[in-house]
Amino acid sequence: MFVLGYHRAIRWNVDLEAAREVCDELDDNWYISSMMAPKPGHRLRILPKVEARGHRYVQLRYLSQLVTVGTLFAVPLSGLARVDLAAGNHRLLFKAASWREGLAGVIIGIALLYVVTFLINVIFGRMFCGWGCPVGFLNRLCDVSELKPGKQMPAWQRLRDRAGPMGHSFMLVFPSVLWWTSFEAFYSGDLVTLSVAWGVTGLGVFSIYALGKWSRWRFCMTTCPIGLYYSFVAPNEQFGIFFREGTEDQQEDACLHCNACIAVCPVDLDPMDLVAEATPRGGIAIEAPGQNHCLKCGDCIQACEMMISNTAARRGIDEVPLKFGLFQGAQRELRGGVGDAEM
Ligand code: SF4
Ligand code: SF4
Ligand code: SF4
Repeated sequence: MFVLGYHRAIRWNVDLEAAREVCDELDDNWYISSMMAPKPGHRLRILPKVEARGHRYVQLRYLSQLVTVGTLFAVPLSGLARVDLAAGNHRLLFKAASWREGLAGVIIGIALLYVVTFLINVIFGRMFCGWGCPVGFLNRLCDVSELKPGKQMPAWQRLRDRAGPMGHSFMLVFPSVLWWTSFEAFYSGDLVTLSVAWGVTGLGVFSIYALGKWSRWRFCMTTCPIGLYYSFVAPNEQFGIFFREGTEDQQEDACLHCNACIAVCPVDLDPMDLVAEATPRGGIAIEAPGQNHCLKCGDCIQACEMMISNTAARRGIDEVPLKFGLFQGAQRELRGGVGDAEM
């Protein structure tokens, strides 16, 4: 593996010294092998290490999820809008309402959520996918809690690691059900009401958890109509991930060519060259440059910062080559990144 990686490294002019330095900190030679090409499973090894460092994006992401889930809870519980299929306590604008008014409120609420995400998409591309979508967040939790290749864990640890994704699935499904019934239906209804309320919630939690567990980002890449729509309506976005500004030489000097950014990308993009056409997605996805499919999740930046920080002092690198920002100048041109090198 190392010999193969070494030859590939020479062809790509990869800095092997930097590779070894980073390997010292990481637990094996995934880094060397990732120089050949990112493989499925590399994300699962990089992401927990990156997240364990308490990166600022980790806190920001929890905050954005708090806003999303908080909104889902707040609308029905405050009585802003709710259709109560169980007891008929419909609400609109914090007052009792007819079922038609409650339904109109729910529809308007959903439409407003759509408008907010539409505006986010027009300005920032698929940023809602990377930060605000609870399903995307579930996928991330599943990634982090996934059993690492080759590692055996006792049953209690596996259960503990699944508690996060399951808990998040519940926090997504439960408030969604509350848009269609009152909170009381979960503890003071008759047997039928209790059974239906908890049965629907349980089925929803299982379905969402199963989606995150077994389909995960593949669903986002090939099946989600919202993701398709987001990719489609952001054809010329200016904001996103960009590779360090400067001449080609400056860019090359600033980069370790470690490919960690490619390996960690949940949707198989080359963050160094998002102007290039994305690899075929399949399903209902559109063929478009990588920037249309980019979730703006920042995982590549987190991974890049980790790699650079491991070697920065010794190599004199003072800047992380991948950044969030406005595309400009050379960033709008195809550059043919490491991921495009001939295999
Ligand atoms: S593609 Fe769909 S499910 Fe995936 S993060 Fe975006 S909106 Fe959520
Ligand atoms: S290119 Fe970076 S920001 Fe975009 S989806 Fe991949 S990891 Fe996330
Ligand atoms: S941009 Fe960062 S993560 Fe990507 S290859 Fe260069 S140094 Fe590595």
